[in-house]
Amino acid sequence: MVTADTIAAIATPYGQGAIGVIRLSGKDAFSIVKQYFRPAKGSFEPKLVRGYTLRYGEWWYQRELIDEVLISFFVQPHSYTGEDVVEISCHGSPYILNRTLESCLDAGARLAEPGEFTLRAFRNGKLDLGQAEAVADLIASESKAAHQIAMHQLKGHFSRELDEMRTQLIEFTGLLELELDFAEEDVEFADRSRFFELLDRIKHRLRTLIESFSLGNAIKNGVPVAILGAPNAGKSTLLNALLGEEKAIVSHIAGTTRDVIEDVITIDGIQFRFIDTAGLRKTSDEIEEIGIRKALERASKARIILYVFDVHASSQSEVHATYELIKEHAPDATILKVGNKADLVQDVEFLDGDILYISAKEKVGIDVLKKALVKEILREKRIDNQVIITNVRHLDALKKSITALEEAERGLRSGLSGELVAIDLRQALYHMGSITGQVVADDILGYIFANFCIGK
Ligand code: GDP
Repeated sequence: MVTADTIAAIATPYGQGAIGVIRLSGKDAFSIVKQYFRPAKGSFEPKLVRGYTLRYGEWWYQRELIDEVLISFFVQPHSYTGEDVVEISCHGSPYILNRTLESCLDAGARLAEPGEFTLRAFRNGKLDLGQAEAVADLIASESKAAHQIAMHQLKGHFSRELDEMRTQLIEFTGLLELELDFAEEDVEFADRSRFFELLDRIKHRLRTLIESFSLGNAIKNGVPVAILGAPNAGKSTLLNALLGEEKAIVSHIAGTTRDVIEDVITIDGIQFRFIDTAGLRKTSDEIEEIGIRKALERASKARIILYVFDVHASSQSEVHATYELIKEHAPDATILKVGNKADLVQDVEFLDGDILYISAKEKVGIDVLKKALVKEILREKRIDNQVIITNVRHLDALKKSITALEEAERGLRSGLSGELVAIDLRQALYHMGSITGQVVADDILGYIFANFCIGK
């Protein structure tokens, strides 16, 4: 168990709140409490503290009664960090929190660095690195889907899967290295065909994980959606209908809506971010090119494009041509054709199975459109029971693992010496292990934990 210095931090957000929490972790946590805490009943003895208990009393500092507090105690190793931990719950006043923290620092605690509690948890084997990163994602999650992914990772499903794959690879690499000791005798301990099978399986799985990043990233950061179409097609009206409130200024005159808007909606737990909606408003220079040039810039950043046209005023060939143009500029995005102003036509003039007919003004078809957005993202996939990558560091490590595995496979097929093949395998193992932190350099740790909030 690491018995480093004792760290302290305010763990709750800055500002006034019903309750604020100060956290201490380290070998002096209990003795620091002893200096300022007067229990309502009995006395307080650091040596007699039992874990998972609460004490109520007063916190005194420099002869000032700071607050009435409730303190939770955790005795190492049964705590978040694996060390002795104290959480002082007081009233959520910035003054009280600051004074209480000050008292702890005065008694010899050190102000915690961002993420340092979690770093200690990692160092003490309470969490692996992937799980520690999931803690940050969990805190940052703003939607059900982002929360689910982070929770899944926190529960260690990803780590377990990686560990299993690593174990199998280590076994084979070991056998391969053993052959080196018997080089003269020309023996094969490692069954080649079983190995190719294993490699295929692992590579396939790693590829699936890599592919999941695009979904994971979209969910974590919000799915970028652009609304494109000619002036007066009803883009602002549609945006309002989707947002469910009158945020954009809608006008009869093309190009008069100028509010800066970048808005977010959550549908079925997935967050969608409407990007560059300010540009959507400044339609003046879009007129000549049916809103295309600027709009296309927008499109390139979107994952989903809502191509809105006026069914009342557009021909099938126009719609088709614009659709193709958008597609050309945003080949990776999904384009949903949205035929607006369906209320103005008795029979829609051209029927196309691809088109979602709506009336933004009358709010007809908006729910269907919302469902289509969600369907585009999930595509039959469930996110609650599978591992989805959301972290660029993990993505990078997975890609490097695959490259090393391919190299190893090539080497083995071309009869390269076991020694050299083993080097590639070790390389793959290294990259896979870097995700969970089995092998990780200190500067990488520093980088990861610097992105945490203080007190976590
Ligand atoms: P934008 O330039 O594409 O953003 O278009 P707006 O949203 O500003 O809409 C232009 C005009 O079309 C406004 O007068 C809207 O009221 C009208 N409009 C928008 N959607 C509909 C619709 O579904 N039906 C009808 N009848 N009018 C609509």
